[in-house]
Amino acid sequence: MREDLWKTGIGMTSQRTRERLLERLFEEGIRNLHVLEAIRRTPRHLFLDEALAHRAYEDTALPIGHNQTLSQPYIVARMTELLLGGGPLDKVLEVGTGSGYQTAILAQVVERVFTVERIMPLQERAKAVLKEIDVRNVVYRHADGNWGWPQYGPYDAILVTAAPAEVPTELLGQLAEGGRMVIPVGEHEQFLTLVTREGDQFIRRQVEPVRFVPLLAGAISF
Ligand code: SAH
Repeated sequence: MREDLWKTGIGMTSQRTRERLLERLFEEGIRNLHVLEAIRRTPRHLFLDEALAHRAYEDTALPIGHNQTLSQPYIVARMTELLLGGGPLDKVLEVGTGSGYQTAILAQVVERVFTVERIMPLQERAKAVLKEIDVRNVVYRHADGNWGWPQYGPYDAILVTAAPAEVPTELLGQLAEGGRMVIPVGEHEQFLTLVTREGDQFIRRQVEPVRFVPLLAGAISF
């Protein structure tokens, strides 16, 4: 991963604002050092339109076009921390590539990321940015992530960054024994939910209230 792209198009304030963001995440309870280090290294402004780049290190969600949003850094950190839970992960499925920022964080703390996005232009932009910052352990699929990516499953962990009304059955089926899924669930009220698989049992824990865009059906090319 390239770290020398920090200053591209963002000016002198970046160093200070990045440090402030890390302090804030720590205050909010993020303790996993791998996650904090990944956030420190990753140039979030590159995942945004130039007009929004100056806000990249605020702890807020920001628009990425196509009615979608790049999640708040706290949420990205929290979800990644929950996913890592017990220890190192090999194969991880991500549903909802979006800008690719969460993908970039994930790719630095696990071995391999399989990421699925339904909106083609978002996927292409994410791919280009991840290539630019030299993140290589990611493979991409343009498809409806409700169906997961059966070809490479089962996965040690699954991270979903858009909210379904219920956890998709196909995703449960692609979770390995002992695996963990982190997913926002609900229509009007959503809860970040941790699902762990123990044999044929799926144990769910509601972690905290969240607001995500909905997990939609079908893939689109424009
Ligand atoms: N993790 C992203 C946040 C993306 S917002 C980031 O860091 O930028 C949610 C994303 O999920 C959007 O890009 C949306 O197009 C995608 N999405 C919604 N429903 C989907 C589905 N069924 N399959 C794949 N992607 C989906």
